[in-house]
Parts: sequence; structure tokens; C-alpha cells
Amino acid sequence: MYMAPLFSGSSGNSILIDAAGTRLLIDAGKPAKTIDEGLNEFGLSLKDIDALLITHEHTDHIAGAGVLARKYKIPIYANSSTWRAMENNIGNVPVGCKREFETGRDFYIGSVNVLPFPTPHDAAESVGYCIFAGGRKLTIMTDIGHMTESLYAAASGSDLLLIEANHDPELVSSSRYPYPLKRRILSDKGHLSNENCGKALCRLYKSGVRGAILGHLSRENNFEQLALETVRSELEREQIPKDEFCLWVAHRDGVTGRFAVEEDV
Ligand SMILES: [Zn+2]
Ligand SMILES: [Zn+2]
Repeated sequence: MYMAPLFSGSSGNSILIDAAGTRLLIDAGKPAKTIDEGLNEFGLSLKDIDALLITHEHTDHIAGAGVLARKYKIPIYANSSTWRAMENNIGNVPVGCKREFETGRDFYIGSVNVLPFPTPHDAAESVGYCIFAGGRKLTIMTDIGHMTESLYAAASGSDLLLIEANHDPELVSSSRYPYPLKRRILSDKGHLSNENCGKALCRLYKSGVRGAILGHLSRENNFEQLALETVRSELEREQIPKDEFCLWVAHRDGVTGRFAVEEDV
């Protein structure tokens, strides 16, 4: 199985997961055409996608969702609060494409097991996802204001984790953003800073996590090198050897690559 971030950041998110013959997209925060072009880089197109899983209703996660359902008949999965919050923004969704789940309760798409878990964010009922297939576990959690015990539990032991490293707090404070927006980003229900991401990974290392993709970088208040170096220095502070923890950054505006995890069977 593999995970392939197509886009990740405040200007649009979509992550491809290909596992046990099932192809999932987590979020569709760019126009359908742009997502399709991203898939083309892996020899795929939107016609090959079995399901779209939505984390929450913010535009950078749902911008292309309506078209994926209407034009490509891709079923969209979200919890009921997110459905209510996004329905007016994605337009008409064919009845057969509307799937509802309960946060905290796992379900199957093909032979892939999906567990949506709650995330602290200023949205109706935002979630992250654990994806299980072939004895392996992938976890995706972005748009998280702070780490909680339930987030640690969700991510623990993941074979691969995509986690938010959104901003550098000093860059946010000195930015030209209006004060309420700064406060929102830095709040407990906003976004995870580079430093807090690093601290989270130190703890997750102890649960067996050995690799992470940093994602959802802010356009204005972060850049790839800064995110990597800040997270790396937190790992070094805890004396986690460099060769024991792989770090990558998901590109904001284009395909990052294919991150494969070998299945047990
Ligand atoms: Zn977002
Ligand atoms: Zn959001």
C-alpha cells in the first residue's frame, strides 16, 4: 500500500491512498481537474478512485468534492455534522454518492478498514483517519490545534503518519494577518506549529512510529526547510537518532511522491 500527497497546505489538500486494490482520496481541496492531473502522475485518474473521505468542511478540503461526486460518481464519506456544514458549499450530491459515518466507529471500503477519529479544530466535527490494510496502518491528521491523548492513541504505532506542521508561531505573530486570524491559527482549535509537531513525533517515536510526512504547511508562515529543521531539532533534543526516524515534507502545490509501506500478506 502507499500514500501519495497530491497537495497539502492551506491552499488545498488531497491525499491518495492505494491499498489492497482500493483507491481512496482524503479530501478534495482543489478543483477536480487539478486533482486529476495529480493522479495522472501515478498513472491514475479520477475514474480510478473508489471513495472520497472528508476531514472537515473548510474550503481547502472540499473545493472539488461536489464535482467528484457529480461527474465521476465518487462516493463521499463524512460524518453528519460535516455533511450539514458543507452541503451548501459543494452543490448537489447524487443520493447514491452520499455516505455518512459516525466518528470513532470504523468501517470498510473494499477490504480497507477506515477509522475516523476526532480532531481539535474550529470546524463542525473535524476528523483524522487511520487506514488499515494488509496488517499495516497509515494515519492522517492535519488541522489540529493541539495534540490530545486521543490523537496520540490514534497515531500510535502507525507505519506511516502524515501530520500537520503548519506554522512558525513567530512568523504568525509578525505577519500582516489581522489579529483575529492570528489568534485563530495559534489557538487550541487552530493549527499545529512546527515545534509542537516535533514534540508530538518524539512521543510517537516511543509508540513505534519511525517515519512522518509533514503536511498542511502555511503559505505565509512556514516553508519546507524551516518545518523540517524545527521538527528535526526536537527529535535531536530527545536524542532520537537521525537514521531511526525518516522525515519528509508534503509539497503545497504539487505531487510529493509515493510513500510505500509493505503489506504483511
Ligand atoms: Zn486545512
Ligand atoms: Zn481547517
